Amino acid sequence: MAQEFDGLTALVTGGASGIGAAVVRELQAAGARVAALDLRPDGAPEGALGVTADVADDESVRRGVETVIGAFGRLDIVVNNAGIGAQGTIEDNGDDEWHRVLDINVLGMVRVSRAALPHLRRSPSAAIVNTCSIAATAGLPQRALYSASKGAVMALTRAMAADHLPEGIRVNCVNPGTAATPWVERLLASAADPEAERAALAARQPQGRLVSADEVAGAVAYLASPRSGSTTGTVLAVDGGMDGLRLRPRP
Ligand code: NAD
Repeated sequence: MAQEFDGLTALVTGGASGIGAAVVRELQAAGARVAALDLRPDGAPEGALGVTADVADDESVRRGVETVIGAFGRLDIVVNNAGIGAQGTIEDNGDDEWHRVLDINVLGMVRVSRAALPHLRRSPSAAIVNTCSIAATAGLPQRALYSASKGAVMALTRAMAADHLPEGIRVNCVNPGTAATPWVERLLASAADPEAERAALAARQPQGRLVSADEVAGAVAYLASPRSGSTTGTVLAVDGGMDGLRLRPRP
């Protein structure tokens, strides 16, 4: 039976862990050939082409994209998902940390998209999906730098969508709420009381639980799909209602 992504290829940055790995599995299951670009690609799902690349290094990104083209012969979908966190107020991170996080979270997406564009222009159904965050639309405590980076990703998504629409390349982003991934597990492990911290994060979401990586992957696949040809410049929240809903307190 024909599948949604048959004949298409995808590159997923940060595809060896968490949300990225779930996206790799989702696209593979729907028929795509998928490459996972990651600092440590060994954790990439079975069947994926693991490519070592650092999104903070332009040369490494260009080599990584060429490796994908060498293996697949084409590139249709880019999922800019690699990212890192930062905690604290504006007083807690020095200039070096600001430059490092913006370099990975924002410029990383620029480098990968820039290297991919010549190939995407040749695709009959080109799509870029960026992993943004609830931190772009809601003010969260202790996340000044991270939120600034994701706010930039949201604005970048819309600007890229405008620039590349005439070339047939759609650009969208997903805004996950707190998702159960190795990243969040690392954060919890470093908390003074991990179980209390887990409960507080779950309670912050109206649905009372963390988002799953598979739920985010489903949203990414929807935006990347050739069936979403009229969807570009959009921000799709996958946050259990955290951004848009105001529920009454639970009894
Ligand atoms: P994760 O730490 O589980 O996975 C991130 C992956 O990115 C890792 O495999 C890591 O090796 C890779 N990576 C990091 N820096 C890289 C670099 N310079 N070059 C190439 N690869 C690099 O994290 P996750 O929770 O799956 O997060 C993925 C994305 O989702 C991030 O952009 C994050 O900001 C976003 N996000 C996460 C959550 C959450 O609660 N987990 C919520 C909203 C948004």
